[in-house]
Amino acid sequence: MAVDPLIELRNVNKHYGQLHVLKDIDLTVGRGEVVVIIGPSGSGKSTLCRTINRLETIESGTILLDGRPLPAEGKELAALRAEVGMVFQSFNLFAHKTVLANVSLAQIKVRKRGREEADKRSRELLNRVGLADQADKYPAQLSGGQQQRVAIARALAMNPKALLFDEPTSALDPEMINEVLEVMQQLAREGMTMVVVTHEMGFARSAANRVVFMADGRIVEDRAPEAFFTAPESERARDFLSKIL
Ligand code: ADP
Ligand code: MG
Repeated sequence: MAVDPLIELRNVNKHYGQLHVLKDIDLTVGRGEVVVIIGPSGSGKSTLCRTINRLETIESGTILLDGRPLPAEGKELAALRAEVGMVFQSFNLFAHKTVLANVSLAQIKVRKRGREEADKRSRELLNRVGLADQADKYPAQLSGGQQQRVAIARALAMNPKALLFDEPTSALDPEMINEVLEVMQQLAREGMTMVVVTHEMGFARSAANRVVFMADGRIVEDRAPEAFFTAPESERARDFLSKIL
C-alpha cells in the first residue's frame, strides 16, 4: 500500500522526571489507516496518544501532522489539536449539558459555527452513532456505551483528520462494548484515520491495518494483524498475547 502519511512521529522521546516513557518512537500513520496499539500496562500507550496531539510535551523528536510540525503552543496548537479528535476511556462529557449541547459546544467555541448550524451537525452525528432520540437527555441518563458514542460524535463534530482512541471500551460493561466497537468499525470502513489503544483483539483483527506492540516505552513490533497474532516475533509480544488471548 502506498502510504500517504498523515501522522508522523520521528525519534520521539519523553520523560516523566527520571522515567523514560517514550523511547525513540518512530511511527507513521497513513491517511485512512487504522493502527491498533497494544501492550502491557505502563508501556506508554496513553502517553503516546496524548503526545500525538501535544497534550504532552516531548524532549526530542518531531511530530508531523499532514506534513506540518506540531506547534509547541498557542492558537496554532489549538487549531492543530482540533484536527485530531480524542476519545478517552472515561467519556469526559459535561454532566450539566445535554447530549446535544455536548456535541455542539466545541463546534461553536473552536470552529466558530453558529448554534443552529452546530446543532444540525450534532443531530446528524447523533443519528450516525445511533442516538438520534437521546439528544435532549443529560449524560447521567445514558448508559456507558451511549455516553461513549456521544463522545465519538463530539469528536467527529470537529471534522478531524484523525481520531485517537485510548481504551474506549475499557470502562464499559461487557454488553456495551460491541455497540461502541461497531461505531468504530463503521468509521474505519468510511476511511477515517484512527489510532486505537485497545485490548479488543477482535477489533484489531478485523479493523486494523497494523498492530503496534509497545513494551517499556518502545515500539517492539509494527505489523499486519494476522502476522502479529499468528507469529509474533518478540518474546515480549508472545508473552503478552499468551496472557490476554
Ligand atoms: P499505558 O497507557 O501503556 O498503561 P502510560 O502511558 O499511561 O502507559 O504510562 C507510561 C508510564 O509513565 C507508566 O510508568 C506511568 O506510571 C508513567 N506516567 C504516566 N503518566 C504520568 C505522569 N503524568 N507523571 C508521571 N508518570 C506518569
Ligand atoms: Mg493507558
